[in-house]
Amino acid sequence: MLEFDQAQAQLADAAPAPTRTETVSLAEAPGRVLAVPLDATLDLPPADNSAMDGYAIRHADYQPGARLPIQQRIYAGDMPRPLAPGQAARLFTGSLIPEGADTVIVQEDTREADGHVEITEAPRALGQHIRRRGEDTRAGRPLLAAGTVLQAAHVALLASQGLADVQVYAKLRVGVLTTGDELVPPGAARATQQIYNSNASMLGALVRGIGAELTQALHARDEESDLQAALQTLVDDCDLVLSVGGVSVGEKDLVKPAIESLGGELTLWKVRMKPGKPVALARIEGTPLVCLPGNPVSAYAVFAVLVSPMLRRMQGRTEIHPPLSRAALRIERPRQDSREEFVRVQAHALPDGGMELTPYGNQGSGVISSLPWATGLARLPADVLVQDGAQVPYYDLRHWLA
Ligand code: AMP
Ligand code: MG
Repeated sequence: MLEFDQAQAQLADAAPAPTRTETVSLAEAPGRVLAVPLDATLDLPPADNSAMDGYAIRHADYQPGARLPIQQRIYAGDMPRPLAPGQAARLFTGSLIPEGADTVIVQEDTREADGHVEITEAPRALGQHIRRRGEDTRAGRPLLAAGTVLQAAHVALLASQGLADVQVYAKLRVGVLTTGDELVPPGAARATQQIYNSNASMLGALVRGIGAELTQALHARDEESDLQAALQTLVDDCDLVLSVGGVSVGEKDLVKPAIESLGGELTLWKVRMKPGKPVALARIEGTPLVCLPGNPVSAYAVFAVLVSPMLRRMQGRTEIHPPLSRAALRIERPRQDSREEFVRVQAHALPDGGMELTPYGNQGSGVISSLPWATGLARLPADVLVQDGAQVPYYDLRHWLA
């Protein structure tokens, strides 16, 4: 059996980096992955400007009780004239500093009357309240690294440089295959012996939620020919295929033979994790295929903690492992298992600033109602008696599904 960390790393290592790029507008950029490193092309601010509403003067012209004639009024967007010695310029936040001025007096420290300004408080320092050219960004310096997931903050930085669009990786195209004779689609009539296909909707949402494109979702019956046809359609159309169910050792677990009959190479892993265990990585005509366990909770957890780094790598992202924290696990009885356990928990903030994790009562791998309840997964070590209050790694699903 493969250890969890090893399986996670091997999956990510099996992932090809993206090659296709496209140019998108800033409006379309959030959530996309920057494909090229970008350097600043502008000094920002482009010129010294005022950080406050007030008056620009020469520091040397200040003396207690100074009363300076107002030479000009400079609004944001105006081009100022040079400041004459012994005079002041009225200006506002964002107004350019006129040549010759070196200090801004805030308007609260002045009185204006008869075309003059009286300075009632001594300036604290030469150069005060001036935003210097280039103090934010400097032309030629690195701005953003390739592999960055663009969010509002990055879009703001790109827009400030005057960029209207940006080169990103093409969205990762992911196909989903669900399997099973017992399944009917939501909205259809259901016989007693049937259940609704929840994994198709779940995986579609997980794929989109991480920022990839759900290219196609197919369902196959538990028949080799049906599975083969669906797999072939998906590998022809996608960068990555996720199949779910039909991959353990039952008589109707035919995904493995279907992959082999398409000439695919397949490595079946027993990962020492719970829920999960059977996970397979295959390659059909060069396209990677990950086979997830059929139980909805297992598929969800395995996608979140085991497979998501692989998807992020295929998206071109540099940060493929979201942050982990540690928190106290609250349990009624000590627990121990021969596999590492990923327990569905809710995180609660403590008054001292710490956090504690409460497990969902029923940890069965078919208990879908536990999924919307859980904020994350607590990772319990294998072969160790875990006591109440033990500090364990916490996988926050807001990060691990993003
Ligand atoms: P399998 O791995 O195909 O044996 O499936 C394991 C369990 O997960 C069985 O109880 C299946 O009915 C259930 N299951 C498999 N696929 C789905 C699905 N797409 N939606 C809901 N339940 C599923
Ligand atoms: Mg099945």
